[in-house]
Amino acid sequence: MSKIAVFPGSFDPFTIGHESIVRRALPMFDQIIIMIGYNSEKRSFFPLEKRVEWIKKVFSDTTKVTVETHEGLTVDFCNKVNAKHILRGLRTAADFEYERAIAQVNKKMVDDLETVFLLTMPEHTPVTSTIVRDILRHKGDVTMFLPSNITTEELIDHVEKS
Ligand code: ADP
Repeated sequence: MSKIAVFPGSFDPFTIGHESIVRRALPMFDQIIIMIGYNSEKRSFFPLEKRVEWIKKVFSDTTKVTVETHEGLTVDFCNKVNAKHILRGLRTAADFEYERAIAQVNKKMVDDLETVFLLTMPEHTPVTSTIVRDILRHKGDVTMFLPSNITTEELIDHVEKS
């Protein structure tokens, strides 16, 4: 049976920190599905289609990583794609507390589902999608926080106009 992990998040936008977690997890799984969770009643910073496109571009060098979108519970998506692992990154103690509760609840809902955590690389600890968005609002350069084949210009062109 192939080992499938789901890496869920909003990825608004996908950062170098997200990329690092996925690449480091690749040897552990046969397939990693990056699941962009969305809520049709909530506005995102970047359009869903663009987030899908950028993540596909980042992982164009491997067939082991795919990208899908999902509205609803992560555990329902895992059941649908037959994944037994959820992948998450941990940056800080605050991340841990938040993630702990979600992982424990997910495990209660689906007993054979395990959440696997990777600690962030020290240099990626301060990188968050929120900070990247804040810099972009003021037209700052975020290239150093993005995967190497994504540019600030590509992102700035697609900020959802509010
Ligand atoms: P969410 O909307 O669920 O918070 P995010 O898109 O912010 O999702 O993040 C998805 C996952 O990536 C989470 O597990 C988060 O902890 C992890 N992550 C985010 N930024 C980093 C980073 N800089 N280094 C390592 N992991 C990260």
